[in-house]
Amino acid sequence: MAKVYFIGAGPGDPDLITVKGRDILASADIVIYAGSLVNPELLKFTKPGAMLHNSAHMELTAMVDMMSTYAKLGRTVARLHTGDPSLYGAIAEQMAELDKSGVEYEVVPGVSSAFAAAAALKAELTLPEVSQTVILTRMEGRTPVPGKESLASLAKHGATMVIFLSVGGIDKAVSELSAGYPPDTPAAVVYKASWPEEKVVKGTLADIAGKVREAGIEKTALIFVGAAIDRSGMAAYSKLYDKGFSHGYRG
Ligand code: SAH
Repeated sequence: MAKVYFIGAGPGDPDLITVKGRDILASADIVIYAGSLVNPELLKFTKPGAMLHNSAHMELTAMVDMMSTYAKLGRTVARLHTGDPSLYGAIAEQMAELDKSGVEYEVVPGVSSAFAAAAALKAELTLPEVSQTVILTRMEGRTPVPGKESLASLAKHGATMVIFLSVGGIDKAVSELSAGYPPDTPAAVVYKASWPEEKVVKGTLADIAGKVREAGIEKTALIFVGAAIDRSGMAAYSKLYDKGFSHGYRG
C-alpha cells in the first residue's frame, strides 16, 4: 500500500513549497489540489502521466474514495492544500475517513499565508515588550466560531492578531476589534501574499476598512491588527542580541 501525503503548497509563490513537498509532488501518481487557492504553476512539478484532480469540484466522500482506492493499489497520492494544511484546511475529516479505511497518511507542513503576509509587511509579529503572542483566527461566517473566540473577546488581549477568511466583512471585524484595541492601533490587509498581484494596504483600525474598500479587496486576504505590525510601535530591542545578555551560546 502507498501513502497519502497532505502537503502544504505554500501561500502562492511556487518557490514557497518545501523541498520535501516538491519532491513528493514530483513522485506522486495522483495529485488532488485545492484549485481555488493553490497556484497551478505548482502542477509543473508533477511527473508526466500523473493524474491531476481539482478538489474544488469534489465532495468529501468522492475525494477520500479516490485517495484510498489508489493508495491501496500502491499509487502515491499527493493532496495539495494552500498555505499550511493545519489552518482551515479541512484535513481532519479527510484523515478521519482514511483512518476508517486503514490508509496511511503523512502531513508535510507548508508556509502559511500568515507568514507570507508578515514577510510582505516586513513585520516581526512578536515585537519585544509590545506583544509576544500571535492570535490566528477568523470571523464567524457560514462556519460558526465558538462564542469565547469572538473577535471582540480576543481583542481584549491587545496581542498581534491575524484574521483569516474575513476581509469580506471588514466593517464588522473592525467594529468587534474596537472592543479591545484603540482606534489608532496599526492595522493592515495583505491580498494574495507572494502572488504577482499581491497588494498591501496599511492603516489604523479607524481607517483600514475604507482603504480596503478603495483597493477593491474582497477575498483572499488577511487582516493584521496590533501595535507590533508597525515598527513605530517598537518599545525595545530584543535581549537575544543584546551585548549585556548572556545565554547558552554566548558568555
Ligand atoms: N491553510 C491556509 C489558509 C486556508 S483558508 C494558510 O495556511 O494560509 C483561506 C484563507 O486564507 C483566505 O480566505 C485568506 O484569508 C487566506 N489566504 C490564503 N492564501 C492567501 C494569500 N496568498 N494571501 C493572503 N491571504 C491568503
